[in-house]
Parts: sequence; C-alpha cells; structure tokens
Amino acid sequence: MALYDYDLFVIGGGSGGVRAARMASGYGAKVGIAEEYRWGGTCVIRGCVPKKLLVYASHVHDEIADAAGFGWTIPEAQFSWPKLIENKDKEIARLSRIYVELLTKAKVEVIEAHARLVDRHTIELDGRQVRAKTILLATGGKPERPRIPGIEHSITSNEAFHLPHLPKRVAVVGGGYIAAEFAGIFNGLGAKTHLLYRGAPLLRGFDGDVRAFVTEEIRKKGVDLRTNSDVEAIEPAGTHLRLKLKGGESLDVDQVLYATGRVPNTEGLGLEAAGVDVDKKGIIRVDGHSRTSIENIYAIGDCTDRLALTPVAIKEAMAFVDTVFGGKPWAMDHSNVAHAVFCQPQVATVGMSEVAARSEGRRLDIYKTNFKPLKATLSGSTERVFMKLVVDRASQVVLGVHMVGADAAEIIQSIAIAVKMGATKAQFDQTVALHPTAAEEFVTMRTPEPEPVEPGLEDMQAAGE
Ligand code: NDP
Repeated sequence: MALYDYDLFVIGGGSGGVRAARMASGYGAKVGIAEEYRWGGTCVIRGCVPKKLLVYASHVHDEIADAAGFGWTIPEAQFSWPKLIENKDKEIARLSRIYVELLTKAKVEVIEAHARLVDRHTIELDGRQVRAKTILLATGGKPERPRIPGIEHSITSNEAFHLPHLPKRVAVVGGGYIAAEFAGIFNGLGAKTHLLYRGAPLLRGFDGDVRAFVTEEIRKKGVDLRTNSDVEAIEPAGTHLRLKLKGGESLDVDQVLYATGRVPNTEGLGLEAAGVDVDKKGIIRVDGHSRTSIENIYAIGDCTDRLALTPVAIKEAMAFVDTVFGGKPWAMDHSNVAHAVFCQPQVATVGMSEVAARSEGRRLDIYKTNFKPLKATLSGSTERVFMKLVVDRASQVVLGVHMVGADAAEIIQSIAIAVKMGATKAQFDQTVALHPTAAEEFVTMRTPEPEPVEPGLEDMQAAGE
C-alpha cells in the first residue's frame, strides 16, 4: 500500500492553488486540490475580475458626459444594476467552470470540500482523511471589520457584488485599495457616495504625491470624501442606516460598505495540529521558498501576506512547483512588482516611493508632471494626470514610476519591464515618444524638481508612506 494518496495536496482553489496543482501534475506528480466555496478564489469570484467589470460599467457615466464635447447628443441614459450583476455573474460562472476544466484536463483530482490539516501529512476532507507527501496551503484572505456597535448592519466587498439593487446613498469606510475602488464604482453608477477614511490622504503606502493628487481627483469626481473621519456606531433608522461619526455628526445612508483590510483565511485549517507557525494575525510564516515551519508544508498567496496580489500568488506557485517538483529551484522576487488601484482616476505604481528611496539614504532626482489630458480639451472634463519618476542620483537608475490618470495600470505594466531591467533615466530619455499619448510624458520629463531644503522624511514616514 502506498504511503501517501497524493504527492501534492493543495488546499484552496484560487489562482495560486490552481496554478500550482496544474503545474505539479504536469511534472508527473499525483495531485489533489480542495476548495470549499467556488473555484477561482477571491480574484475571479469576488475580487479583481468582477470588480474590474463594475469599474468598466461605472466609467460609462463619464464617457456619456464627455460625449457632448465631441459632437454627440445622447438621449438620457438608463442604467440597470440587476442587469449588470446578472451579466457579471454569467461571466464569473464561465471563468469558474474554466478553472475546473483546466484542473481536470491536467489530471488533478478536484475535491469540493472543506479541508483541514490533521497532522503534517494528513488532511481531513468533510469527514474522510487523505495523506499527502507535500501539502500546499493557498487559502487566501477574507475581509476584516472593526468590532464597533452595529457593524453587523454593514457589508464587505464580498456582499457588494451581490446587492439586489444599487443603493441610493452609500458610505464606504476605509482608505485603501478596496475602499477607493468601490467609492469610484458606486459614484460612477450614480449613488450618492461618501468615503470615510480615518486618516489622510488616501492609499497609505503609495507615494506621497500620488496620495495627495488622487485624493483631490476623487473629490472632484463628486465623492463626498471625508478624511480623519471615524465611524463609532451604525444604527438602523427606519428604512436606512444612521452612522454615528466621531465628533458627534451623523450620516444617513442606505448601505455601508466596510473596506478596512483583509486577514488570512487560516482559521479552522488545523495549522496548530500540523505544527505550522502563524503570527498573531494568523499569517502563515514562510521562507524565501514559501516553505512553512514544517518541512513538507508550503504556503503561497494572501494567506502568507507578502504582497496580496493575484499575479504574485501565481508566481509564488510557479516557483514552488519548479523547485519542489521540477528540479529547477528558484525563489520568487517580490521587488518591483507593479500594482494598481482601479479607483477613478486610476493609480499605478512600480518600484519605490520617494520616501522609501530617501529612507535608504539615497540622493534622488525627482521628476514630476501634472497636466490636462488631450481628451479633456474637448470633453470639458476637469480631470488631470499626474506622473512621477524617482531616480537614484548616483547611478541614474529609475527606482520608481508612479501615475494617476486614465489607463495608468496599462501604462505602468509596460514600464515595469524597464524598471525590472534596471533602466536608467538616460535610457528613458533615449526612448522616442509615442505621440500623442499621455504615456509619452514618461520619456520627455527633462527637469528635475529642485532639491528639497529639508526632505521631511520623518513627516512622510509618520504619514505612513
Ligand atoms: P488596505 O489595507 O488596502 O486598506 C485598509 C484601509 O482600512 C486603510 O485605509 C486603513 O486605514 C483602514 N482601516 C483599517 N482598520 C480600520 C478601522 N478599524 N477603522 C477604520 N479604518 C480602518 O485593505 P483593502 O481591504 O482595501 O485591501 C486588502 C488588500 O487586497 C490590499 O492591500 C491589496 O493587497 C489587495 N487588493 C488589491 C487590489 C488591486 O490590486 N487593485 C484591489 C483590492 C485589494 P490606515 O491607512 O489608517 O491603516
């Protein structure tokens, strides 16, 4: 009798887990994978993909507003939230089916069950036990809400994708990725949108100039953005909800969405039974090869909270499989990973913020531009674009590239290749502009900003950049 039922057992059918299972099977391993909810994980089911579809829907509002300047007369447009959700759900169901098809085609055994570790080689699947030589934990994350009175009346991004109708008035609480993105979605679709953030400006961790610029642009779009604003309690008030704000103010809305961070989905996973180390927040501790404190158990993606981004989980999966099953060891490099916030306007970044670079003691050349895009000249939109390069003065290597504006994510994805290759400012300058685009500004910025008298590093760090 074989010692193990599987060479590899993967817990979690999201982007990282599915990629690892398919690739390991491709290397000849006998692989099983368990998922307790829907195949595709956060990104496909209730994250990146449905979010981006809703973002597209909300952009239509601006396109219609812009049309008049280009000579179009458009009769009053009607929007149907149920139709949008129905179409989105069809697409998500299609993608989820594709995930299962890819797994079965790759000869991975697909198991729909809650999986729990019993010991370092044994997994319990809704009552039955299987044994695996190697185990990969890829259970992702879930939303976290503060425990304030009435929090049960709020929703998270999970529920936002399934609301029966678009709320007339909505409060979004938080100032990170999800809060900024959903505020843009609700506002664009016509809800009166309040964005309540306990700090200022939005998007802690991003470059300071980016944060200041996008905070003002979001306000210009009509979102009632309140910084230094804390919700103390949520009370039902007839057909709506009343938010009690710090300072005594109250705010009446029809829906409250909390986007106050995510935590690893590791509760009830049997980590203790298997001896896998986690920190206080339940984050699984791993080494540079995604190996946990237990030699045959690995973990990737959001449950390890390195960079909570789908493509990162996928690359971590590939590094794990090549290393453990492919005889081609390599470690995932988490530096210079481009990332974007699909708020309106978009924010996208690759590399270091100014403060991160200065905190390494580097002298910098900073290039910035802020302009009205060509499209806005006829549309009458007041939207502006912001771009910034952070350049190491000594080596002239471009350390960080930042953008706020239409298509920022598409543009930064391409620029990320140059940054990953260690391109210098001179190489950016040698690149001939592609005219007329907004992106061309990245290769035409010539004059660095004056050297700050006092970089204000401490202030910037205190602000959480
Ligand atoms: P973030 O960590 O980005 O933001 C959480 C926000 O909630 C912060 O503004 C934080 O404030 C605030 N907050 C935290 N606790 C409280 C509290 N008790 N009361 C009030 N406000 C609070 O989390 P998200 O949930 O938005 O996203 C989680 C992660 O998912 C992201 O970090 C990202 O990695 C990933 N993601 C990526 C996306 C993309 O690639 N486009 C889209 C969505 C998510 P403060 O700043 O003061 O700490």
